[in-house]
Amino acid sequence: MITKNDIKQLQKLIGKENVKDSKPHLLAYSYDATRKQYLPEAVVFPKDEKDVRKVLRYCNDKKIPVVPRGAGSGFTGGALPVKGGIVLALEKHMNKILEIDTKNMVAVVQPGVINKTLQKEVEKLGLFYPPDPASQEYSTIGGNVAENAGGMRATKYGITKDYVMALRAVLPNGDLIRAGKKTIKDVAGYNIPGILVGSEGTLAVITEITLKLIAKPKLTKTVMGVFESVKDAMNAVYKSLAGGANPVAMEFLDNLTIQAVEKKFKKGLPTDAGAILISDIDGNVEEEISYQLSLLEKFFKENNVKEFKIAKNNAEAADIWFARRNASQSITIYGEVKINEDVTVPRSELPRYLEEVERISNKYNLKIPCFGHTGDGNVHTNVMVNKDQIETGYKAIEEIFKVTLDLGGTLSGEHGIGLSKASFMKMAFTSEEIELFKAIKKAFDPNNILNPHKMGL
Ligand SMILES: Cc1cc2nc3c(=O)[nH]c(=O)nc-3n(C[C@H](O)[C@H](O)[C@H](O)COP(=O)(O)OP(=O)(O)OC[C@H]3O[C@@H](n4cnc5c(N)ncnc54)[C@H](O)[C@@H]3O)c2cc1C
Repeated sequence: MITKNDIKQLQKLIGKENVKDSKPHLLAYSYDATRKQYLPEAVVFPKDEKDVRKVLRYCNDKKIPVVPRGAGSGFTGGALPVKGGIVLALEKHMNKILEIDTKNMVAVVQPGVINKTLQKEVEKLGLFYPPDPASQEYSTIGGNVAENAGGMRATKYGITKDYVMALRAVLPNGDLIRAGKKTIKDVAGYNIPGILVGSEGTLAVITEITLKLIAKPKLTKTVMGVFESVKDAMNAVYKSLAGGANPVAMEFLDNLTIQAVEKKFKKGLPTDAGAILISDIDGNVEEEISYQLSLLEKFFKENNVKEFKIAKNNAEAADIWFARRNASQSITIYGEVKINEDVTVPRSELPRYLEEVERISNKYNLKIPCFGHTGDGNVHTNVMVNKDQIETGYKAIEEIFKVTLDLGGTLSGEHGIGLSKASFMKMAFTSEEIELFKAIKKAFDPNNILNPHKMGL
């Protein structure tokens, strides 16, 4: 419980204007994209790393919970202050791109920089930062690192962890650590960036991030394949990749999703198709693009594609991508509540995974539209329920998780565990593994002040 005196002391430490406990502030920082609500007791806006250190030192001494927050776009409740305490809002002041080093192809940023802002700035210099979560217009790099965010380009370019070279972070006791280097290779010491990336704000507050950049490819082509069955489409995904195709993205929409987008936007989508695959190919010379396109065409045809369409220009490409970009909002026609999961399986198990989802959908008589990053084995699996069906919905989810784990997959490909999936950790990990997670948490945060009660820890 924060006292009036705590507020005063925090204000003394980092400025009155940067520590707020008025109702509007508390409300504004009580949500994330889960739409669950937990009121913090104060919202604190550090100006810089020094402020972060002061605030954490104070809160650690007083055992006040601290929840780091970027844009609050997380899908699993990571930024929700479930135990009260303060929300440490990093987007307001700590949002500067500190350096774009074109010689070494790295960017150094503060955690509150918006993903898209960084992308635009590096692209002006002919460079490229590939991780592009669909929330790129507002999610922060700090949040992306803490969640190890993925995106549409992960099939070819990987995810956030593949670009984090170094970090500065503040431990819950206020100590500063530096981890990693601006070098391509660094095998000295434990891989601390590897532990902090995806740590969901439970181990340290990330205050500076050094990111790898690559050269921006000059050419892109977009392709759409229309398949009669989901099974054909899923076979085409893993067989194309195993056969040497190297697409940037290999996205998927199932029939329920296609129908929902069409109902909402009337784009002339093939509503009788079992599935659509959307793929981008990129490169620097036409020959490279043609070769990749020919590979996709070959593998799609071998897996019974009904229509193989190559966008002739940017407008056609945008039209193809429209369906995928609007999938999430369109499927809300199937229920009042969307329980959205982002399970991931080894790619060759995609046909079986989707077969099992269909079985579970029939068993519980629930609509479960699926779409997503199948090039990464990552399927956004959306159990749609009305308010009186939530319990049934969670039974279906539990079965979906079981199938996923049996197929060698994971509970989350990109959204993390946070609060929403915490109770399923025991399904996915042995007690010995969970004890190890707890020991890591304790080594960083012995007083359990940083984002407590998350990740099932
Ligand atoms: C419409 C929509 C589309 C989305 N699409 C994708 C997608 O394609 N791929 C994907 O991976 N995710 C996606 N997401 C989920 C979400 O945007 C990502 O998880 C994103 O990385 C969260 O960033 P944020 O700045 O909003 O972080 P927040 O939600 O504020 O925080 C997320 C977590 O990170 C921690 N955190 C934030 N900043 C720091 C810091 N500096 N130090 C330590 N911990 C910190 C928080 O405590 C919390 O646990 C989507 C969300 C929405 C709403």
